[in-house]
Amino acid sequence: MRPALVIGNWKMHGCKQSINCLLSELIKENASSFAELVLCPPFTYLQWVKEVLQENESLIKLGAQNVSEHHDGAYTGEVSAAMLSDLGCQYVLVGHSERRELFKETDQQVVFKAQRLIEAGIVPVVCVGESRDEREKGLTEEVLVRQLAPFFAEMQPKSLNKCVIAYEPVWAIGSGRSATPEQAQNTHAYIRRYLRNHLAENADDVRIVYGGSVKPDNALSLFVMPDIDGALVGGASLNGQDFLAIARASLSCNA
Ligand code: PEP
Repeated sequence: MRPALVIGNWKMHGCKQSINCLLSELIKENASSFAELVLCPPFTYLQWVKEVLQENESLIKLGAQNVSEHHDGAYTGEVSAAMLSDLGCQYVLVGHSERRELFKETDQQVVFKAQRLIEAGIVPVVCVGESRDEREKGLTEEVLVRQLAPFFAEMQPKSLNKCVIAYEPVWAIGSGRSATPEQAQNTHAYIRRYLRNHLAENADDVRIVYGGSVKPDNALSLFVMPDIDGALVGGASLNGQDFLAIARASLSCNA
């Protein structure tokens, strides 16, 4: 049984005022009663979001959008896994396609980041997915294996069991054009088979969430698919009512 997980990735959006409005909507509707909910604000607002959630006794969890691959040291501008743990982060995104594309993060760096997180007791949300060009050339599975294989080469099964996988086709992110439920399900099923083949046990406990233009009007059709365990939501997580609707729809995951 895999409990549904819905993660909001706020990217570089928001200010104190907009965050207060958004949090009050989520708290008022008791959003965390629908699913395990995680919010990933920009680093600068982590402490603020944590305080508001705590003051309101909300069960919504705190996540971050990135982490350094290093333990500590002279890395100006970087934030370590231990620091995020100090702040109460329970989840951190690694390998988001924007980090891979815009900041040239490599598959190897993504593995190092996940390792630092596991050491700090934080769940890595490992983002994988193909570009439009790669999908059109039939390379989706090859790309996924390229992104996933270093994890299985360099991390212990007991650490891998603690990760969440986010399948995010790059062409669907921020485009308003989600993968169809069938496309997403087929790819999630492929990732599930890969996990079963490479993890000695408990492969079926690893959650695989879908990301890429999840909105209130397509969430349910994605969540009823057997291998979709929740969502990583960008744009729609900035709107309280939209995020609530997606969280509500996730009650259908693994139902
Ligand atoms: C994301 O940034 O991970 C994402 C899925 O964005 P969007 O929902 O806006 O496509």
